[in-house]
Amino acid sequence: MIKQKDGIHIGREKNFIADSRKEKGDANIVSHAHMDHVHKAPNPVICSDLTAKLAEARTGIKIETVKHSNVRLLDSGHILGSSAALIKTDGKRVLYTGDVSTRDRAYIKGFKPVKADILITESTYGLPPYLFPDQKEIEREIIDWIQDNKNRPLYLSAYSLGKAQKIQYLVKKAVNRPLIVHGSVKKMNDIIEKHTSLEFNVKPYKENKNLLKSGEGIFVGPTSFSNKDFLNNLVKNSNGLKAGFSGWCITGAYGYGRYDKSFPFSDHCDFGELVNLVRDVNPEKVYTHHGFDAEFASYLKREEGFNARSLKTNQTSLTDF
Ligand SMILES: [Zn+2]
Repeated sequence: MIKQKDGIHIGREKNFIADSRKEKGDANIVSHAHMDHVHKAPNPVICSDLTAKLAEARTGIKIETVKHSNVRLLDSGHILGSSAALIKTDGKRVLYTGDVSTRDRAYIKGFKPVKADILITESTYGLPPYLFPDQKEIEREIIDWIQDNKNRPLYLSAYSLGKAQKIQYLVKKAVNRPLIVHGSVKKMNDIIEKHTSLEFNVKPYKENKNLLKSGEGIFVGPTSFSNKDFLNNLVKNSNGLKAGFSGWCITGAYGYGRYDKSFPFSDHCDFGELVNLVRDVNPEKVYTHHGFDAEFASYLKREEGFNARSLKTNQTSLTDF
């Protein structure tokens, strides 16, 4: 009934497909507009209006949204527009989380779990060491660090959609300095500013490099940009500092040597939050995917008594509940 192929395939009666790149089912769900989830198959898709707008801007493909009486979208608390899907099929309630966070962060509210018979959850941080500090503490530390470095240009690396906007939001809370962003971040800001009440008032990078050289500006760009030679030269020549933001920095290996400072700011559940999510949904069967999927499934079985499996390792024999 549940298979992972191109996307997650759900149901025998009807073929619901979530987050596939090419395959088309009877109904297609897109959980959010991160590139590994954006649908490139023919329309229409089931997704939030904001996800459709963001995905259109990123892929250039016009997206037509539809509703389905068996699918209810729930805010998954990962990025703006991100949705979990509660699907009724084969006499079961199936909850597909997509990427998920249950904690309130910056301007975003965490996911509120609902009861389901079958849970399909991401398990990015499905290992016990991945426990993040309290979110208020993380945000306080980021703000303090920005305020403590008032005379130095700061170069902040964060994924263009989602993390980058939350970091800009924190910068604006911390100081009143010019915010200069990479084009990929600006593109996402523009859509978000048009469709929500958030405002970032940024300056484009190309015309405002001088504000970084002078030490006034704070730069926000994608992580793929963070180790480019010209950026490293700019940081060096302007006596700047570089920071990264990711749950992976909990174990110390994240961006080793790349950043002067790393903060465990994540858009995913940490390990404890994943366990609580499963307890709250209280399903008869759990399927895990992404990250530590096998490890998390075996933890749920061993320590929590759930009937749990990784989708990846069982993709050909998942006919039982
Ligand atoms: Zn994502």
